[in-house]
Amino acid sequence: MDCSGCNKCTEVNCSIDTKCQQLDRSLMDKWGAISFPIYQTATFAHDGFGGSTGYDYTRMQNPTRQQLESIVAYLENGKDALAFSSGMAAIATVMELFSPGDHFIVDEDLYGGSIRLFNEISKKNGLEYTAISLSTEDITPYIKPNTKAVYLETPTNPMMNVTDIEKLSQVTKEKEILLIVDNTFLSPYFQNPLDLGADVVIHSGTKFLGGHHDTIGGFVVVKDEVLDERLRFIYKTTGAGLSPFDSWLILRGIRTLAVRLDRAQENALKLANYLKRQKHVTKVIYPGLPDHPGYEIMKKQARGFGAMLTFEVDSEEFAKSILNNVQLIYFAESLGGTETLITYPITQTHADVPKEQLERNGITGRLLRLSVGLEGIADLICEFNRVFAIADKELSR
Ligand SMILES: *Cc1c(COP(=O)(O)O)cnc(C)c1O
Repeated sequence: MDCSGCNKCTEVNCSIDTKCQQLDRSLMDKWGAISFPIYQTATFAHDGFGGSTGYDYTRMQNPTRQQLESIVAYLENGKDALAFSSGMAAIATVMELFSPGDHFIVDEDLYGGSIRLFNEISKKNGLEYTAISLSTEDITPYIKPNTKAVYLETPTNPMMNVTDIEKLSQVTKEKEILLIVDNTFLSPYFQNPLDLGADVVIHSGTKFLGGHHDTIGGFVVVKDEVLDERLRFIYKTTGAGLSPFDSWLILRGIRTLAVRLDRAQENALKLANYLKRQKHVTKVIYPGLPDHPGYEIMKKQARGFGAMLTFEVDSEEFAKSILNNVQLIYFAESLGGTETLITYPITQTHADVPKEQLERNGITGRLLRLSVGLEGIADLICEFNRVFAIADKELSR
């Protein structure tokens, strides 16, 4: 592992498992608390005129949040990370980098909230964008003189399309366009887009980083100092920083990122193979299956395939019956926690996406998304056997 830029150790190259256990020691107080304290304060005292501890006001900096930011930057091999009160706040802040008249290119399959932001807020602010399929199309013909950024997820939410980040970055670098990657689905444990040529990495910290479905947070990670300064300025001005307590929760979540993701991924692969064999399942989309079109790219650019999978059943009624009858699995939006969640993108995460776009992307009433958790795999399979049998019976009546 390349640890260049790391100032945490001098002799050993830390694995990411080890990185998850590190604290930024320069921030530790004289008591040496290993569970980093929650600095629940709005403001900080100055030691006379001109005297400063480096902290003024929590909207700008807070030690707990800074500890978290330092670790997330470390995990993503970035220079700086900014912690936000949600993933959407992180994305909205990145969009403040642009001015009226600027154009950006986005992948057409994205988290529904991002599509809503681009349609309802960015457009109102004078930005224009073109949505294309970045996993299959070349961006060159879509680049205009005012194109400032390319925005994507890989794998995408919920269709799990995979884009070759390094290949795309060759074009964005040449054209001096920012490459922005939402890395929520894989987390830094499995993928580091900055190492592959991305300029900005975004996370919904609500998901795998937090990992327990107990807090909302978001991150922006960058390498470039000028870009970082711009973002820090917008950050302190618009004020969507993560609270000290929520920072502490995500710090705690990161401690177990590696073991959680190893187990969740193992379950996801087994469940994908199980689902493929089921009579009413018409499609299983998991990038860890060798027949997934992005499988080879994933093997090249990521260290794993993640714990998200999408599958399609043969009727909308069958999908709804599954949602009505799950017991061990929760029917809920969100992902990345310890419990397995089943989501219905068409009415949940993607409810505000225009109908034509849903159709184009294949988001139908027959599509279900799973965030695979840490339960015993036999119990998950048992749960599916049970709900499939109920649905089968209900629909053959
Ligand atoms: C959840 C999610 C977001 C938004 O994050 P919040 O923390 O819910 O604001 C953005 N991108 C992806 C891929 C997500 O799954």
